[in-house]
Amino acid sequence: MFNKVLIRYGEIGIKSRGTRRRFEEILKNNIKLALKRYEIEGNIRTLHRRLLLEVDDSNLERVVSILEKIPGIVSFSPVVECNLDLEEIERTALEVFLRRVRELGRDTVTFRVKTQRVKKNFPLTSVEVNRYIGERILKYFQGAGPGNITLKVDLKNPEITLGIEIIDRAYVFTEVFRGVGGLPVNSQGKVLVLLSDGIDSPVAAFLMMKRGCGTVLLHLKISEEGLEKVEKIYQVLRDYDPTSKLLVFDYRGILKAIRELLEEIGEERYTCIVCKRIMLKIAQEYAKRFGCEGITTGDNIGQVASQTLRNIYVISEGISYPVFRPLIGLDKVEIVDIAKRIGTYNISTSKELRCFAVPRYPVTRGDVEKARELERYVLERIGDILSNKPLK
Ligand code: ATP
Ligand code: MG
Repeated sequence: MFNKVLIRYGEIGIKSRGTRRRFEEILKNNIKLALKRYEIEGNIRTLHRRLLLEVDDSNLERVVSILEKIPGIVSFSPVVECNLDLEEIERTALEVFLRRVRELGRDTVTFRVKTQRVKKNFPLTSVEVNRYIGERILKYFQGAGPGNITLKVDLKNPEITLGIEIIDRAYVFTEVFRGVGGLPVNSQGKVLVLLSDGIDSPVAAFLMMKRGCGTVLLHLKISEEGLEKVEKIYQVLRDYDPTSKLLVFDYRGILKAIRELLEEIGEERYTCIVCKRIMLKIAQEYAKRFGCEGITTGDNIGQVASQTLRNIYVISEGISYPVFRPLIGLDKVEIVDIAKRIGTYNISTSKELRCFAVPRYPVTRGDVEKARELERYVLERIGDILSNKPLK
């Protein structure tokens, strides 16, 4: 019955006309790419402030789970469309309503009709349509409708809300699925995300995607197990940004050298700081190569030694790109909630991998001059770190 999906977007709706067009095109493209990834054919067109996706109805369930993850979509509904004609709307409404009643399988059902004139090109007001269609439905159930079902109108908390949107045609539905909201990925340029196998950075990546950033994910490989987890996380994140790339850079040798060199001179307490500074240097280089306009990490104030307010400053000093830390104001439980919701939590926690280089007593209030000096000391001894080619 439902082979069309009416897609509503939020913030794009309030932009100027030109910007809105551009955003609509980007959103359409993202939807197409996401469907293609799951080998689903779909046709998509722009309506007035809505998109309409046409798919084979056997794919509907999969399409719902795809659309739920595409930033920029606020909500969507599988719909049946008909002409802007009251009789046709009535017929379609009854058909859609009956189907939902049968699905519910109850003796008593409460309902309401909720009409929205997205385009004000229909002679009746929304309230008039609600009243008219509502009455017709009631009458139908009292008369020839399916036996022994009692219908009641409930405007506050009904079991079925029959939605009607009046646009170029009428779109009738009973279900509204929520999307992630935000802005379409790539409407705001790209960021380079430092992606680890932990809980935080996948959430940070998601939050940047949600704000319309395309992503280049850079993983600095320390172990095979870590990389395996990151590859799984990447598959989940691609549902949100189908244009996302994963770059992997072999970091184990560098990290080992940092730890050993600092230990030799009795400065192993600075290992994490120097490690993170070098990570950002590598990230900066790849941001440049891939046309990104910022770097993103999963840092969060006070979570671990390298993330004290002071150390965040000491680590980012000397980096010319803005470093975005979208988790900065969240509590761990809030981060965990998002990780669960987006589907990365179970992968991140599947096997806890501890970094072999973390010293026993890491510095919590690093000194910026000293950090810079130690970094130079290390880099002089390990040579050109960027001559390492990415593994993929
Ligand atoms: P996460 O849960 O994201 O691993 P964390 O709380 O474990 O974060 P750290 O391990 O100190 O904290 O990492 C801080 C940030 O540095 C990460 O969120 C990530 O952005 C980046 N990072 C850490 N390790 C790596 C890595 N191996 N490759 C790429 N980025 C990394
Ligand atoms: Mg980590």
